[in-house]
Amino acid sequence: MIQQLTSYPSATIKFQNPERPRPIVAVVGIIHGNEPCGWHAIKTTERELRSSPLLKGTVYLIGANMAAYRRRSAFVDCDLNRAFNTRQKRLHEQKIVYHLRNIFSQCDYILDIHSSTTTIEPFVARCNSRYKKLAHHLLDKFVVVDKSLARGALFTEFSRTLLVECGRDLDQKTFRLAEKIPLRFLTALLMIRGQQFTSKKPKVYFATERLALKGFRVTGFKSLKRAQKVGESALVRMTTKRQLYPMVIDDINGEKTVLLAQQIGPG
Ligand SMILES: [Zn+2]
Repeated sequence: MIQQLTSYPSATIKFQNPERPRPIVAVVGIIHGNEPCGWHAIKTTERELRSSPLLKGTVYLIGANMAAYRRRSAFVDCDLNRAFNTRQKRLHEQKIVYHLRNIFSQCDYILDIHSSTTTIEPFVARCNSRYKKLAHHLLDKFVVVDKSLARGALFTEFSRTLLVECGRDLDQKTFRLAEKIPLRFLTALLMIRGQQFTSKKPKVYFATERLALKGFRVTGFKSLKRAQKVGESALVRMTTKRQLYPMVIDDINGEKTVLLAQQIGPG
């Protein structure tokens, strides 16, 4: 069964195997309108599900912020990924939350696809370390982010969410990866047929600090040893006090949100 539910403010299509409707999952793109790989992933998954029906379950494919996507801007009124903890309906993004909350609260799993303005190695993020196995069916790197570091984000307010950062916004390889992620996700959950991806070098990180940096260039997701450069602005050069991985998770109007993570072990 295929149903186009809405086209605005979010584009939502529902696929369901009516005999076996569980699990219920959502694949979400363009929480940020300037990250087009998410929309590409949604359209690719839609074509796949139209040609080969679900073995089981329900899939909602969601282009979250169509107005921001058309403007190629991160958002219209406010950052959607900081609005999932509000019940207000005044701003455009708050209306989107109001509209999607119903779907997200039914879901057993949510996949949330993003990209970044900086070069980063792709990773999966969650607000706790459950679903580690599922995360390693998507990518090598799994980052556990304390909820207090990203209040209002989809992946912290709906704790069944796996957020995937696919790479730099307009790089071809970001698009190639983004289109594979939902298929890896649905294959891992045995909802579609296919060869399962399993990471050969799984790594787990724990993000412990968050920085908001304006006007900084920041080193991407790579291991830094003590006293190496995290980033620099015209005035300041920041270095590390211990080994860590800086990750840029948002870059809105020149203000970067950077998480500092530590590797807590393989597997
Ligand atoms: Zn994003």
